[in-house]
This record gives sequence, C-alpha cells and structure tokens, in this order.
Amino acid sequence: MFKDTFKDNGKLSNNGKRIAFNFNTYGTAIGLAGRPLADQPADLANGTPVYSVIAYNTNAIGIEVDELYYGVDYETIPDNVVSAEVSGIQQKISPVGLFIHESAEALAFRAYVNMYGSFDAGAYPYAHSRAILKEALIRADLHIAGGFAGAKVKYSVPHDKR
Ligand SMILES: [Zn+2]
Repeated sequence: MFKDTFKDNGKLSNNGKRIAFNFNTYGTAIGLAGRPLADQPADLANGTPVYSVIAYNTNAIGIEVDELYYGVDYETIPDNVVSAEVSGIQQKISPVGLFIHESAEALAFRAYVNMYGSFDAGAYPYAHSRAILKEALIRADLHIAGGFAGAKVKYSVPHDKR
C-alpha cells in the first residue's frame, strides 16, 4: 500500500516495519502523496499513482478523548461541530467516522495545494479544519453518533496477553 516498505530481498524495510507496527498497535495507516513527513501511497500495479490511502485495522478501537478544534477559528466554531464533539467525548468512534474525516481531509489538502502551490505550514490546519466541518455535516445526515474522528482521539488494537 505504501512506497519503500520492502527491501530488494523481499523483506520489510525499516519504513515497512514502522508502518506495520503502527497498524498493528494503533490500528490505522494513512498516506497522502506529496505531503511532507507523511507515508507515501504506492502506485497501483499498473503504474497508476495513488493520492490517498486510508486503512483501518478492523480490530482497532478508536475513542474520542476530548474536544479539539485545531485549525478552526475559535470565534466561529459552528454549533453543530461543538455539539458533535461534546456528545462524542469518551465514546467509541465508528470506523466510518475515520473514513469520513480522513477522506474529507485528503480532498481539502488537494484544494489547498491547488490554491497555494504546495504543502506548507498552513496546509494541515486548513485541511483538518475543513474536514471537521464536513464530518459534522455528514455525521448528522447519516445519523452517526459516538466519538468524533476529528477531535482529540486515541486508537489502539487490543491484543491477547496470553
Ligand atoms: Zn484531521
């Protein structure tokens, strides 16, 4: 799914090991082409480039730990966002919430780069704040309750300790 994850001998590279460890421990793997310091999606087998990868470990449990409105102008946080985040505190995040948030964020990153020409320090606050607004709207439309994926969150994958 990601670039530079295998060595020539077919074994996992350090990068591949790190991504696998995180997926197995925290339950998600997110990649965005061109974003600095982000994992880079691998091309499809036919060479088609991939812009965004959003992978969810079906054993993962995501919890909204607290409200967080990063990137949103504090004077203009919409009421629907606040109520969604407040109602989700200490609740499980439905897996679809992660996909809604991350796909909205990936599209907002693309819009930002199209406007300003590159990923810079403003890209993440822009993309994340727009994803929060969209997540609140989609969540209401689809009647999704529970944890809010764009808030302060904690993901983990429980493992048997036998
Ligand atoms: Zn985000």
